[in-house]
Amino acid sequence: MALLSVDQARERILSQLHPVTTETVNLAECSNRVLAQDIIALDDLPLFDNSSMDGFAVRAEDVTDASTASPRSLSVVADIPAGHAPTISLAPGQAARIMTGAQIPSGADAVVPVEDTNFENRDAGSTVPDQVQIFKAAKIGNNIRPRGMDIRSGNTVLEKGRRLKPQDLGLLAMLGISSVIVYQRPRIAMLSSGDELIAVDAPLEPGKIRDSNSYTIAALIESTGAEPVRLGVARDDRESVKKLLDEAEAQKVDLILSSAGVSVGAFDFIKEVIESNGKMDFWRVNMRPGKPLAFGQYRNIPFIGLPGNPVSAFVGFEVFVRAAIGKLSGLQNGIRQTVRARCEEEIDSDGRESYLRAHVHEENGVFTARLTGHQGSGNLHSLVQANALLIIPAGVKCVPAGQEVNAWLL
Ligand code: AMP
Ligand code: MG
Repeated sequence: MALLSVDQARERILSQLHPVTTETVNLAECSNRVLAQDIIALDDLPLFDNSSMDGFAVRAEDVTDASTASPRSLSVVADIPAGHAPTISLAPGQAARIMTGAQIPSGADAVVPVEDTNFENRDAGSTVPDQVQIFKAAKIGNNIRPRGMDIRSGNTVLEKGRRLKPQDLGLLAMLGISSVIVYQRPRIAMLSSGDELIAVDAPLEPGKIRDSNSYTIAALIESTGAEPVRLGVARDDRESVKKLLDEAEAQKVDLILSSAGVSVGAFDFIKEVIESNGKMDFWRVNMRPGKPLAFGQYRNIPFIGLPGNPVSAFVGFEVFVRAAIGKLSGLQNGIRQTVRARCEEEIDSDGRESYLRAHVHEENGVFTARLTGHQGSGNLHSLVQANALLIIPAGVKCVPAGQEVNAWLL
């Protein structure tokens, strides 16, 4: 059977995942959460006609000919600070001092900035003059932010499936929406496997290496907004693998990730345990690095087996798991942006879809890329030095220097 392409594999994964359940959350706790409802404004924004300047609210017709040479004199009948609704109505020949954000009094249809008057004094506590000289003509609407100019009651302002940004929370607050329905944060279990693995703080022993993947992957999970559930390290035997998978089930996680043990090695038991307690959908993809990538279900929980090599595990996460968690999270537009980058050097590939560690730099809108060192899938240092992954399509054996390829910025 031909190997699945990256796109086919990702489609297979996504088609079997569904968004998690929703909850109502206080606005203050909603940063980065994914909206599970459309947000419809129940107010106009601005809420009322207000001034965009410190100045004097006037009737435009009173000052149509005002200039420095022939100022118009108006009598000041009120002082309107922000937060105080005006009670007066301007008659012809009258003005009201007004502060930025304060409500426009009835009768007024323009604001003349203090700079265009003889009363520049904006000191706190300064009292208003009886008369003000206007040095500049004003037109109807000048320096007024009319009610509803930004948003009208009934408008849909934020759509279901959007990850809430800081400015979104501000807008929700403006609209008086103090809690919203969001998707729960998916819980993603993570286990490492391998007899060679020891804890980061354990003394080194011959033949052993430190379990680094659990750190990389837990941090990657956090970067998606999901909650990592660390299960620890399974030994290379069925019982140990099954014990941790059962623990994942007991913890009611939404997705299980593992690293290593899904290749064709003599001690790769994960595949077998998944097969006899659920189902294995596929376990190889036509890509580099990261060909041994498995997808299935442990009992009813979706399972993605990442490769063990540290770079392969990272790439597998970026290529498949990030999109998978996006779908579980309820995210609508999780599509990753690519940029075009020009290769500084010739790049050889082996015909699989390849994700290569590179450093790109931008000059005048053009990205140029160079590889960050040898592309062995155990060389995490070259990934640390990279700020991008170059994507060499399947079927391509050589990219000549100067040619552009797609890149993901990391
Ligand atoms: P495997 O898929 O079990 O054949 O592992 C592939 C490679 O990844 C081997 O060199 C392992 O030692 C290495 N490896 C597996 N798990 C981890 C881990 N958690 N952290 C770092 N390296 C790992
Ligand atoms: Mg192994």
